[in-house]
Amino acid sequence: MERKEMKYIDGSLRNKKLFLLDIDGTVSLDAEWIEGAPEVLNLIEENGGKYIFITNNSTKGIGDYVDKYRGMGLPVDRSNFLTASYVTACFLKEKHVGELIYVLGTKSFVKELREFGLHVAEEVTEENIGRITVAVVGFDNELTYGKVTDICRLLSAGEVKYYATNMDLACPVTFGFVPDCGAICRMIACAVGREPEYIGKPNKMMVTMAAEKYGYAFEDILVIGDRLYTDIACGINAGVDTLVVFTGEAKREDLETTEFVPSYYCETIGELYEILRENGI
Ligand SMILES: [Mg+2]
Repeated sequence: MERKEMKYIDGSLRNKKLFLLDIDGTVSLDAEWIEGAPEVLNLIEENGGKYIFITNNSTKGIGDYVDKYRGMGLPVDRSNFLTASYVTACFLKEKHVGELIYVLGTKSFVKELREFGLHVAEEVTEENIGRITVAVVGFDNELTYGKVTDICRLLSAGEVKYYATNMDLACPVTFGFVPDCGAICRMIACAVGREPEYIGKPNKMMVTMAAEKYGYAFEDILVIGDRLYTDIACGINAGVDTLVVFTGEAKREDLETTEFVPSYYCETIGELYEILRENGI
Protein backbone atom coordinates (compact mmCIF):
# COMPACT_ATOMS: atom_id res chain seq x y z
CA MET A 1 0.00 0.00 0.00
CA GLU A 2 1.31 3.43 -0.87
CA ARG A 3 1.87 5.51 2.24
CA LYS A 4 0.36 8.94 2.55
CA GLU A 5 2.85 11.75 2.52
CA MET A 6 3.80 13.38 5.81
CA LYS A 7 6.30 16.09 6.50
CA TYR A 8 8.09 18.02 9.18
CA ILE A 9 6.13 21.17 10.07
CA ASP A 10 6.77 24.07 7.71
CA GLY A 11 5.30 27.33 6.41
CA SER A 12 2.41 25.52 4.69
CA LEU A 13 0.76 25.60 8.13
CA ARG A 14 0.37 29.37 7.93
CA ASN A 15 -3.26 29.29 6.81
CA LYS A 16 -4.57 27.38 9.80
CA LYS A 17 -7.00 29.33 11.97
CA LEU A 18 -8.49 26.79 14.40
CA PHE A 19 -6.08 24.62 16.41
CA LEU A 20 -7.63 21.60 18.15
CA LEU A 21 -5.21 20.26 20.74
CA ASP A 22 -5.07 17.18 22.89
CA ILE A 23 -4.03 17.97 26.48
CA ASP A 24 -2.04 15.16 28.19
CA GLY A 25 1.29 14.57 26.48
CA THR A 26 0.68 17.35 23.95
CA VAL A 27 0.56 20.67 25.85
CA SER A 28 1.04 19.48 29.42
CA LEU A 29 2.03 16.61 31.67
CA ASP A 30 0.11 16.68 34.95
CA ALA A 31 0.24 20.33 36.04
CA GLU A 32 3.38 21.21 34.05
CA TRP A 33 3.45 22.85 30.62
CA ILE A 34 5.41 21.17 27.90
CA GLU A 35 8.04 23.70 26.82
CA GLY A 36 6.72 26.31 24.40
CA ALA A 37 3.01 25.42 24.85
CA PRO A 38 1.81 28.68 26.50
CA GLU A 39 3.82 30.73 23.97
CA VAL A 40 2.25 29.03 20.95
CA LEU A 41 -1.27 29.25 22.39
CA ASN A 42 -0.88 32.97 23.13
CA LEU A 43 0.59 33.55 19.65
CA ILE A 44 -2.43 31.88 18.02
CA GLU A 45 -4.82 34.19 19.88
CA GLU A 46 -2.73 37.31 19.26
CA ASN A 47 -2.90 36.57 15.53
CA GLY A 48 -6.68 36.19 15.47
CA GLY A 49 -6.77 32.39 15.52
CA LYS A 50 -8.49 30.15 18.05
CA TYR A 51 -7.37 27.13 20.02
CA ILE A 52 -9.60 24.53 21.66
CA PHE A 53 -8.49 21.63 23.82
CA ILE A 54 -10.32 18.44 22.84
CA THR A 55 -10.08 15.72 25.47
CA ASN A 56 -11.55 12.29 26.07
CA ASN A 57 -10.87 12.73 29.79
CA SER A 58 -14.28 13.49 31.29
CA THR A 59 -13.34 13.19 34.95
CA LYS A 60 -13.18 17.01 35.08
CA GLY A 61 -15.97 19.34 34.03
CA ILE A 62 -15.13 22.21 31.69
CA GLY A 63 -15.25 24.70 34.61
CA ASP A 64 -12.54 22.72 36.41
CA TYR A 65 -10.33 22.75 33.33
CA VAL A 66 -10.74 26.53 33.04
CA ASP A 67 -9.68 26.96 36.71
CA LYS A 68 -6.71 24.62 36.31
CA TYR A 69 -5.31 26.32 33.20
CA ARG A 70 -5.93 29.84 34.52
CA GLY A 71 -3.99 28.71 37.58
CA MET A 72 -1.18 27.70 35.23
CA GLY A 73 -1.19 31.22 33.76
CA LEU A 74 -3.16 30.76 30.52
CA PRO A 75 -6.11 33.18 29.98
CA VAL A 76 -8.64 30.52 28.92
CA ASP A 77 -12.44 30.52 29.10
CA ARG A 78 -15.09 27.83 28.54
CA SER A 79 -14.87 28.23 24.76
CA ASN A 80 -11.31 26.82 24.86
CA PHE A 81 -12.48 23.31 25.88
CA LEU A 82 -14.50 20.46 24.41
CA THR A 83 -14.71 17.26 26.48
CA ALA A 84 -16.11 13.90 25.40
CA SER A 85 -18.93 14.18 27.95
CA TYR A 86 -19.90 17.68 26.75
CA VAL A 87 -19.90 16.56 23.10
CA THR A 88 -21.98 13.51 24.09
CA ALA A 89 -24.51 15.81 25.78
CA CYS A 90 -24.72 18.03 22.68
CA PHE A 91 -25.11 14.99 20.43
CA LEU A 92 -27.91 13.51 22.59
CA LYS A 93 -29.68 16.85 22.66
CA GLU A 94 -29.58 17.03 18.88
CA LYS A 95 -30.63 13.43 18.20
CA HIS A 96 -32.54 12.13 21.21
CA VAL A 97 -34.23 15.02 23.00
CA GLY A 98 -37.61 13.95 24.42
CA GLU A 99 -36.56 10.27 24.58
CA LEU A 100 -35.92 8.43 27.83
CA ILE A 101 -32.16 7.80 28.17
CA TYR A 102 -30.58 5.34 30.61
CA VAL A 103 -27.23 6.69 31.79
CA LEU A 104 -24.49 4.61 33.38
CA GLY A 105 -22.26 7.38 34.69
CA THR A 106 -21.31 9.58 37.62
CA LYS A 107 -23.79 11.84 39.42
CA SER A 108 -22.00 14.78 37.84
CA PHE A 109 -22.44 13.36 34.29
CA VAL A 110 -26.14 12.72 34.94
CA LYS A 111 -26.52 16.28 36.22
CA GLU A 112 -24.77 17.67 33.13
CA LEU A 113 -27.14 15.73 30.84
CA ARG A 114 -30.21 16.91 32.77
CA GLU A 115 -28.99 20.51 32.51
CA PHE A 116 -29.07 20.01 28.74
CA GLY A 117 -32.79 19.27 29.06
CA LEU A 118 -32.42 15.52 28.54
CA HIS A 119 -34.79 13.00 30.09
CA VAL A 120 -32.50 10.68 32.11
CA ALA A 121 -33.25 7.39 33.89
CA GLU A 122 -30.68 6.23 36.47
CA GLU A 123 -32.29 2.82 36.96
CA VAL A 124 -33.91 0.25 34.71
CA THR A 125 -37.22 -0.96 36.18
CA GLU A 126 -40.18 -3.08 35.14
CA GLU A 127 -42.06 0.17 34.72
CA ASN A 128 -39.61 2.12 32.49
CA ILE A 129 -37.79 -0.58 30.49
CA GLY A 130 -40.27 -0.40 27.62
CA ARG A 131 -39.88 3.37 27.35
CA ILE A 132 -36.07 3.68 27.37
CA THR A 133 -34.79 4.07 23.79
CA VAL A 134 -31.17 5.10 24.40
CA ALA A 135 -28.36 3.80 26.64
CA VAL A 136 -25.24 5.88 27.40
CA VAL A 137 -22.07 4.89 29.25
CA GLY A 138 -19.57 7.39 30.66
CA PHE A 139 -16.37 6.98 32.65
CA ASP A 140 -17.97 6.04 35.97
CA ASN A 141 -15.82 5.95 39.09
CA GLU A 142 -19.02 5.43 41.11
CA LEU A 143 -19.81 2.20 39.24
CA THR A 144 -21.89 -0.45 41.00
CA TYR A 145 -22.88 -3.97 39.96
CA GLY A 146 -26.50 -2.78 40.06
CA LYS A 147 -25.78 -0.29 37.24
CA VAL A 148 -23.99 -2.97 35.20
CA THR A 149 -26.92 -5.33 35.65
CA ASP A 150 -29.37 -2.59 34.63
CA ILE A 151 -27.64 -1.83 31.34
CA CYS A 152 -27.25 -5.54 30.51
CA ARG A 153 -30.96 -6.00 31.13
CA LEU A 154 -31.78 -3.04 28.89
CA LEU A 155 -29.45 -4.03 26.04
CA SER A 156 -30.77 -7.61 26.18
CA ALA A 157 -34.38 -6.45 25.97
CA GLY A 158 -34.27 -5.16 22.41
CA GLU A 159 -33.78 -2.21 20.14
CA VAL A 160 -32.00 0.43 22.17
CA LYS A 161 -29.46 2.92 20.70
CA TYR A 162 -26.17 2.48 22.55
CA TYR A 163 -23.46 5.17 22.95
CA ALA A 164 -20.43 5.78 25.15
CA THR A 165 -18.34 8.88 25.80
CA ASN A 166 -14.87 7.48 25.02
CA MET A 167 -13.15 4.22 24.11
CA ASP A 168 -10.05 4.61 26.33
CA LEU A 169 -9.43 1.41 28.28
CA ALA A 170 -7.36 2.81 31.14
CA CYS A 171 -7.16 6.20 32.83
CA PRO A 172 -3.84 7.31 34.34
CA VAL A 173 -3.90 8.08 38.09
CA THR A 174 -1.13 8.73 40.62
CA PHE A 175 -0.34 5.03 41.24
CA GLY A 176 -0.80 3.80 37.65
CA PHE A 177 -4.12 3.16 35.89
CA VAL A 178 -7.80 2.42 36.62
CA PRO A 179 -10.41 1.12 34.13
CA ASP A 180 -11.80 3.88 31.90
CA CYS A 181 -15.04 4.00 29.90
CA GLY A 182 -13.83 1.59 27.19
CA ALA A 183 -13.07 -1.07 29.80
CA ILE A 184 -16.53 -0.72 31.34
CA CYS A 185 -18.01 -1.18 27.85
CA ARG A 186 -15.87 -4.29 27.27
CA MET A 187 -17.20 -5.82 30.47
CA ILE A 188 -20.76 -5.18 29.26
CA ALA A 189 -19.87 -6.58 25.80
CA CYS A 190 -18.62 -9.78 27.43
CA ALA A 191 -22.13 -10.30 28.80
CA VAL A 192 -24.43 -9.04 26.06
CA GLY A 193 -22.28 -8.98 22.92
CA ARG A 194 -22.94 -5.34 22.05
CA GLU A 195 -20.45 -2.49 21.56
CA PRO A 196 -21.50 1.16 21.74
CA GLU A 197 -20.80 3.94 19.28
CA TYR A 198 -18.05 5.98 20.93
CA ILE A 199 -18.49 9.78 20.74
CA GLY A 200 -14.98 10.93 21.83
CA LYS A 201 -11.81 10.76 19.75
CA PRO A 202 -11.25 9.12 17.25
CA ASN A 203 -14.87 9.84 16.29
CA LYS A 204 -14.84 12.94 14.06
CA MET A 205 -17.66 14.47 16.10
CA MET A 206 -15.32 16.52 18.32
CA VAL A 207 -13.83 18.20 15.23
CA THR A 208 -17.12 18.74 13.39
CA MET A 209 -18.73 20.21 16.52
CA ALA A 210 -15.83 22.64 17.04
CA ALA A 211 -15.97 23.69 13.37
CA GLU A 212 -19.74 24.26 13.43
CA LYS A 213 -19.88 25.94 16.81
CA TYR A 214 -17.18 28.51 16.00
CA GLY A 215 -17.67 28.79 12.23
CA TYR A 216 -14.43 27.47 10.72
CA ALA A 217 -13.91 25.67 7.39
CA PHE A 218 -12.25 22.25 7.56
CA GLU A 219 -9.20 23.45 5.58
CA ASP A 220 -8.56 26.05 8.32
CA ILE A 221 -8.30 23.38 11.05
CA LEU A 222 -5.26 21.58 12.45
CA VAL A 223 -5.62 18.73 14.97
CA ILE A 224 -2.56 18.29 17.25
CA GLY A 225 -1.93 15.31 19.52
CA ASP A 226 0.46 12.68 20.86
CA ARG A 227 -1.61 9.55 20.10
CA LEU A 228 -1.92 8.27 16.55
CA TYR A 229 -4.96 6.02 17.03
CA THR A 230 -7.08 8.63 18.84
CA ASP A 231 -5.89 12.20 18.14
CA ILE A 232 -4.52 11.75 14.64
CA ALA A 233 -7.25 9.26 13.68
CA CYS A 234 -9.86 11.81 14.82
CA GLY A 235 -8.43 14.45 12.45
CA ILE A 236 -8.18 11.95 9.61
CA ASN A 237 -11.80 10.85 10.15
CA ALA A 238 -12.90 14.49 9.96
CA GLY A 239 -10.78 15.15 6.84
CA VAL A 240 -8.59 17.88 8.39
CA ASP A 241 -4.81 18.27 8.61
CA THR A 242 -3.05 16.74 11.61
CA LEU A 243 0.20 17.22 13.53
CA VAL A 244 1.73 14.61 15.82
CA VAL A 245 4.19 15.54 18.59
CA PHE A 246 6.55 13.13 20.33
CA THR A 247 6.19 14.36 23.91
CA GLY A 248 3.59 11.73 24.88
CA GLU A 249 2.72 8.29 23.60
CA ALA A 250 3.73 8.24 19.91
CA LYS A 251 7.39 7.80 19.07
CA ARG A 252 9.05 8.82 15.84
CA GLU A 253 9.54 5.20 14.75
CA ASP A 254 5.77 4.59 15.03
CA LEU A 255 5.33 6.73 11.91
CA GLU A 256 6.87 3.95 9.81
CA THR A 257 4.16 1.44 10.67
CA THR A 258 1.02 3.33 11.71
CA GLU A 259 -2.16 3.27 9.63
CA PHE A 260 -2.96 6.75 11.02
CA VAL A 261 -0.48 8.84 9.06
CA PRO A 262 -0.39 12.49 10.21
CA SER A 263 -0.01 15.39 7.77
CA TYR A 264 2.85 16.85 9.83
CA TYR A 265 5.15 15.87 12.67
CA CYS A 266 7.55 17.65 15.03
CA GLU A 267 9.26 16.83 18.32
CA THR A 268 7.42 19.24 20.62
CA ILE A 269 4.63 21.81 20.46
CA GLY A 270 7.36 24.45 21.00
CA GLU A 271 8.60 23.88 17.43
CA LEU A 272 5.21 24.99 16.13
CA TYR A 273 5.83 28.33 17.85
CA GLU A 274 8.88 29.01 15.70
CA ILE A 275 7.01 28.07 12.50
CA LEU A 276 4.01 30.28 13.27
CA ARG A 277 6.17 33.17 14.42
CA GLU A 278 8.18 33.11 11.19
CA ASN A 279 5.30 32.52 8.80
CA GLY A 280 2.31 34.02 10.61
CA ILE A 281 -1.04 32.29 10.80
MG1 LIG B 1 -2.56 12.74 24.87
